[in-house]
Amino acid sequence: MSLDASRNDFVELNRRHLWNPFTQMKGYLESGPLVIERAEGVRLFDLDGNAYLDGNSSLWVNIHGHNRPELNDAITGQLGRIAHSTLLGMDNVIAIELAARLTAIAPPGLAKVFYSDSGATAVEIGLKIAYAYWRRVGKPSKRGFLTFRNAYHGDTIGAMSVGGIDLFHDEFGPLLFPVERAPYPNAYRFDGTEHECSTRCLAAVADILDRKAEEIACLVVEPLIQGAGGMVTMPAGFLAGVERLCREHDVLLLADEVATGFGRTGRMFACQHESVAPDLLAIGKGLTGGYLPVAATLTTDRIYDAFLGEYSELKTFFHGHSFTGNQLGCAVALASLDLFERDRLIERVQISAAEVADQLKPVAELDHVGDVRQRGLMVGIEIVEDRDTARAYPWELGTGARVCRRVRELGMITRPLGDVVVLMPPLVTGLEDLSMMTGILSRAIREVTQR
Ligand SMILES: *Cc1c(COP(=O)(O)O)cnc(C)c1O
Repeated sequence: MSLDASRNDFVELNRRHLWNPFTQMKGYLESGPLVIERAEGVRLFDLDGNAYLDGNSSLWVNIHGHNRPELNDAITGQLGRIAHSTLLGMDNVIAIELAARLTAIAPPGLAKVFYSDSGATAVEIGLKIAYAYWRRVGKPSKRGFLTFRNAYHGDTIGAMSVGGIDLFHDEFGPLLFPVERAPYPNAYRFDGTEHECSTRCLAAVADILDRKAEEIACLVVEPLIQGAGGMVTMPAGFLAGVERLCREHDVLLLADEVATGFGRTGRMFACQHESVAPDLLAIGKGLTGGYLPVAATLTTDRIYDAFLGEYSELKTFFHGHSFTGNQLGCAVALASLDLFERDRLIERVQISAAEVADQLKPVAELDHVGDVRQRGLMVGIEIVEDRDTARAYPWELGTGARVCRRVRELGMITRPLGDVVVLMPPLVTGLEDLSMMTGILSRAIREVTQR
């Protein structure tokens, strides 16, 4: 179909042939869906040429803006050499180069990179490595997982098993393996100080580990902030406390930084805020600057070495994907890391995050805003019916979705998490665009909640 085919033609083809993720297709197709045609910087353009600020980094992936010449060149340059060859039992130069770069910027001790292609697979691989590790070292009873309530780790069966969002996961319960769950310290719903909340939740983790550490392979956590669970922030010190408990109980720590990695929280990785060194690190989303689907699970030499042996010892990690170590993806990931350095992007994120916090102060005072939660450039604005009691709107009203629809009419794209409205701009977003974004959010929230 030619590009000047009308928007309606595409929507009709969508209706006939495309099933969108996390989307109720019935209402969606009736709602006048947006069809994106191109993008430039932090703006997406639809088929009619309307511009929209990319307020959620195209679902939390975009870092340096769209259509960045440096990233485009990395892909086309690589394309002239090779697009893809397998990493199963052989190598490619770009995947090796990227593995070396990633281990150099990751928290200390993470020396090995296992590639895959989505955040969910990066988590699955972490779970399988943790489970298999304890078998390799003669402690096969350590085969369970400790996770947090309200967690999100992806949509495949294993990743759902360690997740805890009822709306997404309940239906599939019979397919999932059982896990231990601890409360995530959401201080904003706790009558007491952040410190008390943190202490109470650490005690809950300690209690489970005291009783069950011999059966637990690994603790899985979204460091600093639960993303899809509603941008729920942890109190300072909690993550370091979790790490300490894992060490004391000889339980591996898997940090899922698929959302928080690559600068979102104001450090390259969220673990670095508390000098936490996980045994396993899952990354994805921003790894390629948001250009191509590459993900990875990083781990330590201690774990890697447990899998070494003669082939006949059956210590091999039997896992892999067709596109593991894809060269186009790895090439653009390397170019993205170059841009982080050249643009001093992490420092810029810290400045932008402080600016956004300032701009959102009046939003936090709005009648129907219960809470504004932020870590770096990850922000959740919780809309409530009653501010004093934090009573939510009836979920059927879809208040968060209505706010986001209004946001779109005002020229910006984002997606709600229930009634939590997300602001997660590309890290390069300039101060003027950030202020347009917060202005649009503020206006949309006021208009929708005052109706
Ligand atoms: C998005 C996300 C995932 C899943 O990543 P996909 O690439 O969508 O499979 C896993 N964990 C966290 C914390 C995420 O935000």
